Amino acid sequence: MAALGVAGLLFGRRALFLVRLVRAGKPLDRSDDIAGRVRNEAVIVLGQRKLFQRLVPGAMHALIFWGFLVLFPTIAMALLGAIDRDWTIPWLGSQGWFMLLVDVFVLAVLAGVVAAVWIRKVVRPARFHGSRLREADFILVLIALVVLTLLGWHATRIAAGLSEWPAQWSFLSNAISHRVGGGARVLERVFVWAHVLVVLGFLAYLPHSKHLHIVTAAVNVFFGRTRRRGRLEPLRFDLPDDELRFGAATVGDLTWKEMVDTVSCTECGRCQDVCPAYATGKVLSPKLLIMGIRDQLLAEGPALLAGGDLSPIVGNGVPEQSVWDCVTCGACVHECPVSIEHVDHIVDLRRNLVMLESSFPQESESMLRDVERVGNPWGKPQGDRAQWAEELGVRVIDEGEPAPEILYWVGCAAAYDERARQAAESTVKLLQAAGVDFAILGAREACTGDPARRIGNEYVFQSYAEQNVATLNGAGVTKIVASCPHCLNTLGNEYGDFGGAYEVMHHTQLLADLLREGRLEPVPGEAKITYHDSCYLARHNDVRDEPRQLVAAVGEPVEMPRNRERTFCCGAGGAHMWMEERGSPINEERVREAVETGAETLAVACPFCTVMLDDGVRSLGKQLRVVDVSTLLAESLEQRDPA
Ligand code: SF4
Ligand code: SF4
Repeated sequence: MAALGVAGLLFGRRALFLVRLVRAGKPLDRSDDIAGRVRNEAVIVLGQRKLFQRLVPGAMHALIFWGFLVLFPTIAMALLGAIDRDWTIPWLGSQGWFMLLVDVFVLAVLAGVVAAVWIRKVVRPARFHGSRLREADFILVLIALVVLTLLGWHATRIAAGLSEWPAQWSFLSNAISHRVGGGARVLERVFVWAHVLVVLGFLAYLPHSKHLHIVTAAVNVFFGRTRRRGRLEPLRFDLPDDELRFGAATVGDLTWKEMVDTVSCTECGRCQDVCPAYATGKVLSPKLLIMGIRDQLLAEGPALLAGGDLSPIVGNGVPEQSVWDCVTCGACVHECPVSIEHVDHIVDLRRNLVMLESSFPQESESMLRDVERVGNPWGKPQGDRAQWAEELGVRVIDEGEPAPEILYWVGCAAAYDERARQAAESTVKLLQAAGVDFAILGAREACTGDPARRIGNEYVFQSYAEQNVATLNGAGVTKIVASCPHCLNTLGNEYGDFGGAYEVMHHTQLLADLLREGRLEPVPGEAKITYHDSCYLARHNDVRDEPRQLVAAVGEPVEMPRNRERTFCCGAGGAHMWMEERGSPINEERVREAVETGAETLAVACPFCTVMLDDGVRSLGKQLRVVDVSTLLAESLEQRDPA
């Protein structure tokens, strides 16, 4: 009882501290979509779906996790049995089938531990670089001791004739029991107490270690995003001064979800392994960023709860350069088995640097100034926005005119950048050929504010969000097609927070619909085409099949190894289109992957990807045509009807 009391006290004190910390976090509403949250618990936590994205480590973790779920009642049985050897859990403790399961899962956990040791000590994957491996080793020893002492207890209990269950069901414990000689009753006491002490030691150690995730991961997954995954939480500027929050300067500015995020990290390194910034030698590692914030939160927690002074996160727990290295591609979030939302942390740190400290990469200054001054990051006159469409006879909706069936949201890149414009011209020709009723806003369309938001200037973003929503609502727009995945994400996932509710689709989705309906009839081709998934399309917005359907209609598709929701960024996201890149270029890494497929064409579906990958092809001196899928489709149609 004393051991239980000490372990309970150590666990309880730490748990109370953590609960008080999370309760001190800034508010955030995650009460929507309860059905989706329950589904995530079932699929991600119980089913271990994200872990199974990597088969061997996934199976290793699942064996240990599922094993402990089954073995949990045996811990209660051991506690009762330690106090009085005649006590056990009513009914379950005498069931042969349950004891059979226990033996099976004891083996499963041991197999999981052996696999974990093999992965850590023999394979040594780079993703563990920076993780606390000694602590992980110690936990593995504890796990092995938990199941070995349990096995010893059951075997000696059978040997001493004390088992309440039919011993023959316990194939493993029973086999071992035959090897126990005299003194089985003494050994039974030794093993049960060894088991109880290991379990209680584990309990006391748990909340002080990274294995706290055993408790917090399920909570974090439950409160993770279920819908609109590309959406950033808006800042509220209408609150009283003492409630205003400009991102995160100190751990006292973190939301409660951000706090739970940090104490849920298992240090598995899956995020680091897929991060394009880390892969190309930048300072940023999403794993080390989360660990850095967690360490600072736990170290400064007492001061936070006492209302004392807190130090800035940037420059202490997190190096400033890592905050700017992120391209907001979301690969880390997608990969993280416990639903940590790294991008929210990074954008919150950026918000504070940009809006309160006026500290941001110098080269992005002109982009921010141009967005604020003239409504587009290219700094071109707003009046020139629709010039490209004049020759094509595209209808521009003037104030008071009726809304078309579909509004084509052109985006700044297509309006002002020649390479990106080709996709808009092709899309327009295809919509015209299919007889779609569409129009554009012309000079009344302004930047969605996406680059300003992703770099951290929430204030500028919100002013554009309000302006554009007023224009769209005033024009009676309900359905929008966008060529730019960043515009698509902002219009579809973020403008809802500002009163804009639209059905938003990507041009590849609309074109795939037209293809299916027989309103576009391309000529099948044989050229090898590899398609690059844009992060904001494939990962943040689940558009993966339609661009492929278009590619398959005009050529021979060939996949790159990193594809669909596990795509690799082009390097432009998170306002990096306007930032200088340090280290090896991300776009070149992606181009090399595309070249290795042997394709002649690299198809894209994003104006930023077009520019970045085309730059990559040029700087590497490769022979690869980078072109939007809409252009491939338009060219194919022209083959059928050259007029
Ligand atoms: S969003 Fe992309 S670039 Fe940023 S930390 Fe995650 S994986 Fe790395
Ligand atoms: S943030 Fe997630 S993916 Fe990254 S190390 Fe932690 S648990 Fe693993």
